[in-house]
Amino acid sequence: MISVDGLRPECVGPELAEAYPGLARLARGPHTLDARCDPDCSITLPNHVSMVTGRPVAGEAGHGWTENTDPPARRHGGALSLRKGSDIESMFDVAHDHGLHTVLVAGKWKFALFEQSYGEDATDQDQIAPDDGKDKIDLFACTPEPVGIVELVLASMRTAASKGKRSLMMVHFPNADFAGHGTGWDLTEGSAYRKSVQAIDEALRHMLSAIDSDPARKGRVAIVLTTDHGGGVPFKSHTDPAAPLNFRIPLLVWLGADSEPVDLYEINASTRTRPPPGERMAAAGAPPIRNADAGNLSLALLGLPAISGSVANAKQDLATAPPTPAGGAAKAP
Ligand SMILES: [Zn+2]
Repeated sequence: MISVDGLRPECVGPELAEAYPGLARLARGPHTLDARCDPDCSITLPNHVSMVTGRPVAGEAGHGWTENTDPPARRHGGALSLRKGSDIESMFDVAHDHGLHTVLVAGKWKFALFEQSYGEDATDQDQIAPDDGKDKIDLFACTPEPVGIVELVLASMRTAASKGKRSLMMVHFPNADFAGHGTGWDLTEGSAYRKSVQAIDEALRHMLSAIDSDPARKGRVAIVLTTDHGGGVPFKSHTDPAAPLNFRIPLLVWLGADSEPVDLYEINASTRTRPPPGERMAAAGAPPIRNADAGNLSLALLGLPAISGSVANAKQDLATAPPTPAGGAAKAP
């Protein structure tokens, strides 16, 4: 699961496909440029908590983490279950309990919230034999540069392979958001924002070519790429959750090979409703596709069950292939 912090959907659209061939390649599969961030909140850390837990920010089932600063120490409440007062399971728990190698590479230190919630200080027992331990994130690393992030991802793939394990990784690129806050969500050619996306795109291409040239990985890595929020309202931020530039986001699913681009809403018409342009959600009917769907989607692609207590994509019914002629949703590979 990749989150490109502050990625506007235009960067994945056809107009910029030549500028960003890596992102364009990841759009060679089911995807939408019309997904949504959390309905009430368009800031960074709460939306990433939603991706990891499959919960909205607010409400009874919400994860309730509304802050966007470095978390307090765990002993001062800096952990998701402690804050909520009840257990909040994550995709890392599900994957690690099932014996997978789990990795979080993030570009901002505030992601230490996940290490404090699910890492070595966590207290949740492994639910599924054999016992893989209470530390549900095998590697937590924080580094801002796209090249360094991708090197950590490739090294983690080798580590997982050396253990004979599959892996679930969350990878967060911060640069586009940094550029947006510096000089604005400026999509004109040559802007700092455009250059920052280019640096991420180059790193993604490097990662994809490393996967392509490794027979053990080729065709065996799926990528779910989304973002926490768009940006531009106000111009150098993304704080207004009612602004379309902030809440409209891309969500791409690359299934290990370049295939025909497919509209995610079209193949999920029975369970998701595309919101009208400029709206956060449709007035009635099924919910939109959200970044919070990404956690349970990633687990589904690995053949793993949903996060307990999750709401977004909790039935893991976000399909990545068109319905079969018989009418049932086709299983993802
Ligand atoms: Zn952000």
